[in-house]
Amino acid sequence: MQCNPVCSLCSQAQETALHLILQCPYAEVWARGSAWSNGLIQVPDQETGIEEWWNKFLNNLSKNERRLKAVVLMYVAWNLWKERNRRVFEGRSMEPMQVLQEIKAEMILRKLACGSPELF
Ligand SMILES: [Zn+2]
Repeated sequence: MQCNPVCSLCSQAQETALHLILQCPYAEVWARGSAWSNGLIQVPDQETGIEEWWNKFLNNLSKNERRLKAVVLMYVAWNLWKERNRRVFEGRSMEPMQVLQEIKAEMILRKLACGSPELF
C-alpha cells in the first residue's frame, strides 16, 4: 500500500509529525485556542522538533501548571492527528474551529469523568 507523502490538511508540504502538529497552516487551531484557554495554548514558534517544542512549553512551570498545560498540548496535537486521519481514512473534513470545538468537548468529558484538569 502506497502512502501519500503530502500533508492531507494543507496539501502544501511533506507530511511529517513536525509539520502536522506545529507548522501546518491548518494548525491555526493553536491560535484559535489561545484566547479560549487564557493563553494556556500558545502558538508554536518556528520549532525545529516536537521534543524541543514540548520541553520549551513545559519548562519552568510548577507541577500542577505543567500537568494542565501538558494535557492541553496533547489534546490539541491529538485532535490535529485525528483530523488528518478523518481526511485520509473517512474522506471527511472539519474546519479548524470545529476541531477546536472537539478539543473543548473532549476536555469537558475528561473533567466530568476524572475531575480534572481545571481549565474552566
Ligand atoms: Zn499541512
